[in-house]
Amino acid sequence: MTSPRSPLIIGAGPAGLTAALELMNRGVTPRLYEASAEVGGLARTPTDGDWRIDPGGHRFFTRNEDIMDLWKCLLPHDQWLVVGRRSAMLVGGYYVRYPLLGRDLLTQMGYRRGLRGLSSLAWSRLKRNFRLNDRDENFRQWGVGEFGRHWYEMFFDGYVRKTWLTEPEHLTSDWANQRIKPIGWRRSHDSDPASRDVFRYPRLGPGQLWEAAAGTLAHNGVVPRLNSPVTKLGFDGATWTLELADGDTATGDAVFSSMPLRLLVDALEPAPPKHIRAVAAALRHRSLITVAVGVDTRRDIPFNWVYTPGKDFHCGRIQNYRRWSNDLAPRDFDGAFLGFEYFIAPNGDLWNADDEHLTELVTQDLRTLGLGGAAVARVMIVRCEFAYPIYDPVRDRSVVRIRDYLRQQYPSLYPMGRNGMHHYDNQDHAMLSAMRSVGRAFGENVDPWQVNTDIGYHEYGLLRK
Ligand SMILES: Cc1cc2nc3c(=O)[nH]c(=O)nc-3n(C[C@H](O)[C@H](O)[C@H](O)COP(=O)(O)OP(=O)(O)OC[C@H]3O[C@@H](n4cnc5c(N)ncnc54)[C@H](O)[C@@H]3O)c2cc1C
Repeated sequence: MTSPRSPLIIGAGPAGLTAALELMNRGVTPRLYEASAEVGGLARTPTDGDWRIDPGGHRFFTRNEDIMDLWKCLLPHDQWLVVGRRSAMLVGGYYVRYPLLGRDLLTQMGYRRGLRGLSSLAWSRLKRNFRLNDRDENFRQWGVGEFGRHWYEMFFDGYVRKTWLTEPEHLTSDWANQRIKPIGWRRSHDSDPASRDVFRYPRLGPGQLWEAAAGTLAHNGVVPRLNSPVTKLGFDGATWTLELADGDTATGDAVFSSMPLRLLVDALEPAPPKHIRAVAAALRHRSLITVAVGVDTRRDIPFNWVYTPGKDFHCGRIQNYRRWSNDLAPRDFDGAFLGFEYFIAPNGDLWNADDEHLTELVTQDLRTLGLGGAAVARVMIVRCEFAYPIYDPVRDRSVVRIRDYLRQQYPSLYPMGRNGMHHYDNQDHAMLSAMRSVGRAFGENVDPWQVNTDIGYHEYGLLRK
């Protein structure tokens, strides 16, 4: 295998920019094509004057030292904040800290409910230990086994329906092992979790890091071409030809792609066989619309973000941006700057809702939150179509079939990143898959598809100063 000399990169999100930096470090100059008007992908920071949104609430944490080093190298020390993680579930008017703590569960909503939850948990654990129930295959089985039926239904059932937009029985449990922390029972857990559970955050939002990455690339003569969606990828056995929406073309000897895997397969020419196209066409995403509102209120919500699993809210989660960084709102604004997140199923009606309708929804949610009377200083709306790759029971098999087909037929095509591999990756894993893809193109024995496949809980990461 010869190393790429004229690589092309699709997408200037975390994966695309990392691939570009990695190629540059190896002495190769890539060309990048980005569909949108900004770099950073899902981790960009949309702005309106001095108002900045983080479309997701991006905690920067990783267990990988190379990633941590790259973050530190791209953005100066004084631009990083260290933020305590403070999240909660808003249930029946109570802000219950999340990850869940045993003491809160037993006392916060009254002892009777606490005891009910505890006995339900004991019964579930007993069944699990004696293997009286099924294997933990779907999310509901996993959740009931882990939290007991009472607390599972109180906190997670509505959350899954609202954010994953599916029946909990239809969702596999593998991501839950990674993302949902068990109840903390030890006394040490009772102290404020924010004092122990901290993450890094760029002062001006996640996009600040990716703009810095683009700046480093530009300094070396690599400037992503924005507003340039790739619509076709032609391959003649040696050379790739990318077709852009405006009719331009670009040729190269390798392609690193972070565009959604489904769309990549659909854009290949000659077209893959029917069965591969059918498998790819069935990969689905959930979309996300964030409506950020600046409201003149003195009331502070003492959490970075709050889950709202109940039916009383339209949104599934609320971001409290000023708890992430005060610099996300203008200096002279001393109210609350909140991001209401609406999760949308594939082909869901809300995706087509206009700004007026979304503003009406957020007004109702503000009312439910108790901020109905506050004057609104700013509304910003951000839409992310490919926000979450959906994990349905056939996802693993489908992705493996596509991966094997692409590897065999197109050895110089490297899908990478969250949507590029249809994998529920955070930034560090998207970056790692990009680094490994470049390593593989240079003949190293590494497999980008094996990134982020461990099932242990990995919400904690390195936090070196
Ligand atoms: C709600 C939410 C919360 C999150 N929270 C965290 C968190 O706390 N911590 C964390 O580390 N990560 C978090 N993430 C994940 C993080 O956003 C992703 O892991 C990361 O952005 C993936 O990078 P990527 O480059 O693979 O993909 P993306 O960010 O999706 O970037 C892909 C880029 O490719 C472009 N593109 C797509 N198609 C084409 C095309 N045909 N032609 C040209 N360009 C194209 C897109 O416009 C985009 O810019 C969160 C994500 C969401 C949605």
